[in-house]
Amino acid sequence: MKIFLLLSTLVITLWADAHIFVYHRFGDSRHPSTNTTKKELIKEFEYFKNNNFKVIRLEKLVNALKHKKNIPNNWVVLTIDDSFKSFYDNALEIFKKYHYPFSLFVYVEASSKKYPDYLSFRQLKEISKYGSLEFHSYSHPHLTKLSDAKVREDFIKGLKIFEKRLQIKPKYYSYPYGEYTNRIKKIAKSFNFDAIINQNMGAVGRNSDIFDLDRDALVGKTDLKYLLKFKHLDATWVAPTSFPKNGILKNIHIKTDEKAKKALLYVSKNGWKKVEVKNGELNIKLNIKLAAGRNRIIISIKDKITSKLLIKDNQWN
Ligand SMILES: [Zn+2]
Repeated sequence: MKIFLLLSTLVITLWADAHIFVYHRFGDSRHPSTNTTKKELIKEFEYFKNNNFKVIRLEKLVNALKHKKNIPNNWVVLTIDDSFKSFYDNALEIFKKYHYPFSLFVYVEASSKKYPDYLSFRQLKEISKYGSLEFHSYSHPHLTKLSDAKVREDFIKGLKIFEKRLQIKPKYYSYPYGEYTNRIKKIAKSFNFDAIINQNMGAVGRNSDIFDLDRDALVGKTDLKYLLKFKHLDATWVAPTSFPKNGILKNIHIKTDEKAKKALLYVSKNGWKKVEVKNGELNIKLNIKLAAGRNRIIISIKDKITSKLLIKDNQWN
């Protein structure tokens, strides 16, 4: 018995902090880059089930973070963005079969204007019996391209219709396209959500920012086991803190408590490279011209990762 317990503990410690995953479309072969086939979904759910992962409600994870509790290594949170009809047609039954809770982030305009590929408010209401409905903007805009006033307008309009049609007050927000900057985050926070979810690769540890929770996309070809092995790296980003004004990424500087001397650094379009860490500090001089769209920086020290999304902001913030 003792040996069994010891082995169980060992297995559990190999798993990393909690993971939030995001799905988009299900069983919809027209859009392979955002699709998860029914077969893949069942395979993932079987993996969770057979490897002692516990699929929990987002609320449970957020509450644990709020109270600074340790985050069990086997927690998994499942979210769905965009409220495509294919969730209702091809995935809801599977979620129900496994009794897996989920949070579905609603693109309000699509339901409001009855866009053909999207869930109706009636279907959303039915779905809310099995999972929570959350907010994913009114018009699904590229927020960083909008003025403060236009960003606020999208929230106000979307939340009003959401609450009126669904009779639910959403607790969480996820950014359209996972795109945000410090300016957008500040506006989103002013709408008093309990948590905000991004779409940056990573895991959730006890020191994760409740208003910047990392979330991994799970689409067709993604390697679930690879994503599950990562833990959250507690890091202070000294530089960069936002998209550089001249578009040139000059250096990357983070501070951690890690003892390791080596790290792996990823910058969009530049791939991975080995870099040195000295006394928990990674300070690398670079001279990289960033793209105008989404740029990702990912730093991995052993099995822990931290990442940063850099997008050119309309307001230079
Ligand atoms: Zn979306």
